[in-house]
Amino acid sequence: MSDGSYPAPAHGAAGDEGAAARSAVVVGGGLAGITAALALADAGVRVTLLEGRPRLGGLAFSFQRGELTVDNGQHVYLRCCTAYRWFLDRIQGAALAPLQDRLDVPVVDVAKPEGRRLGRLRRDALPVPLHLGRSLAAYPHLSLAERAAVGRAALALKGLDLADPTLDTQDFGSWLAAHGQSARAIEALWDLVGVATLNAVAGDASLGLAAMVFKTGLLSDPGAADIGWAHVPLGELHDRLARKALDSAGVRTEVRTRVTSVSTNENGTWSVQVPGERLETDAVVLAVPQREAHDLLPAGTLDAPEQLLRIGTAPILNIHVVYDRTVLARPFFAALGTPVQWVFDRTAASGLGAGQYLALSQSAAQDDIDLPVAELRERYLPELERLIPGTRGAEVQDFFVTRERTATFAPTPGVGRLRPGARTKAPGLYLAGAWTATGWPATMESAVRSGVSAADAALSALGRPRPRHLFEFEEAA
Ligand SMILES: Cc1cc2nc3c(=O)[nH]c(=O)nc-3n(C[C@H](O)[C@H](O)[C@H](O)COP(=O)(O)OP(=O)(O)OC[C@H]3O[C@@H](n4cnc5c(N)ncnc54)[C@H](O)[C@@H]3O)c2cc1C
Repeated sequence: MSDGSYPAPAHGAAGDEGAAARSAVVVGGGLAGITAALALADAGVRVTLLEGRPRLGGLAFSFQRGELTVDNGQHVYLRCCTAYRWFLDRIQGAALAPLQDRLDVPVVDVAKPEGRRLGRLRRDALPVPLHLGRSLAAYPHLSLAERAAVGRAALALKGLDLADPTLDTQDFGSWLAAHGQSARAIEALWDLVGVATLNAVAGDASLGLAAMVFKTGLLSDPGAADIGWAHVPLGELHDRLARKALDSAGVRTEVRTRVTSVSTNENGTWSVQVPGERLETDAVVLAVPQREAHDLLPAGTLDAPEQLLRIGTAPILNIHVVYDRTVLARPFFAALGTPVQWVFDRTAASGLGAGQYLALSQSAAQDDIDLPVAELRERYLPELERLIPGTRGAEVQDFFVTRERTATFAPTPGVGRLRPGARTKAPGLYLAGAWTATGWPATMESAVRSGVSAADAALSALGRPRPRHLFEFEEAA
């Protein structure tokens, strides 16, 4: 097939109420694909969702390990993640993944020989940026001068225009240094938030993506950075409840069904090949990771498909430790002066009967991702003893790790121009995935936004007016 040779799809006119139900195949049952499938089905399209693995949820899933239900990686979202919140509502899961009433992050520093020091990042009921002023002024992990410099940099960040494409050509670390941020301020504040949200240290992150995260999360609405997380296993939300919502929306969902090729037909419809079956459809949404999308895209459907292969990936490691007793009274905390980044109490969500189960979420984990479990154990258990006095003397009943080597796309400077939008050059073929051009880093929010964008583009091409009530998060964003 040559460039630009795609026939127009054989659809009814836009808004043609009498037209037979249009059909769509969504490839990939991660959050992007589930969202696209739901949005299309809600608009009256006949949808088939195909997922290669035995479960839905993609990169955010759970598995069983004895009596424990384990998440492959701790996931959190923020109040400003309006698309993911829409998704939670849509699958009737919002109550299972509640938000904090008000941002409150305990930050434990063990760098100093005199011992542990606790600080807090929390907000007041004041307008932006005063909502964080008191917390920053009292933040014990920075000197007075560093706190003042952080305030000045935050205001400079607030003034950046996210639509300016040159932001994506610079790295965040250099920008912070140029705005008077010490190495300590970067470690104790900017990277504390940035590594967890961007999956890269400031020096490796695009200023455009970093500015987007900090402006949206900390400098827009006072409550924007309030944190939410699943109080149940991720699989309960992204697999079981998502599947229930898809079923009631009339979506045909097939798991263990890997798509091997996608091609267009003479009349502008599409064929999707899976082992033993060929599906004919009006539209296809490819909601798979960028490398798989590259391999499935028919020739000529993107101007520069090889760019997808230039989008790098970054790892996240989770370290799981089960103690014989309760060692930590908080639901989570962040750590400084240690390789440990964020620690979450997963006991209740995992179904553990006795003792306590902690999960360490280690982002931008390039140095650790391939270390043997024994080495990680030797390295991290003593760090937990420094951070959590209650672990000293407690018995470790289980220690294991989950490694996601391609957890996110790498948010490096320049990545912005590699990320394609939902539309391809071929009418009827759309892209979704956290890695597409949503403006967000690789997050659940980005995945859901991409699914909505792809569904939106498909709906206008299918002549199905987009129901206004579907994507209210756009108005709220
Ligand atoms: C350990 C870890 C921690 C994270 N923490 C956070 C966090 O705290 N907050 C946050 O917002 N985000 C977090 N993320 C990122 C978030 O999970 C992802 O951005 C999001 O889930 C991506 O969804 P997606 O639908 O775009 O892609 P995926 O989840 O990758 O879904 C793509 C799906 O396509 C399927 N597929 C691929 N090829 C085919 C084929 N040929 N046929 C059929 N199916 C196919 C795959 O099996 C997969 O299910 C984390 C990710 C990881 C791994």
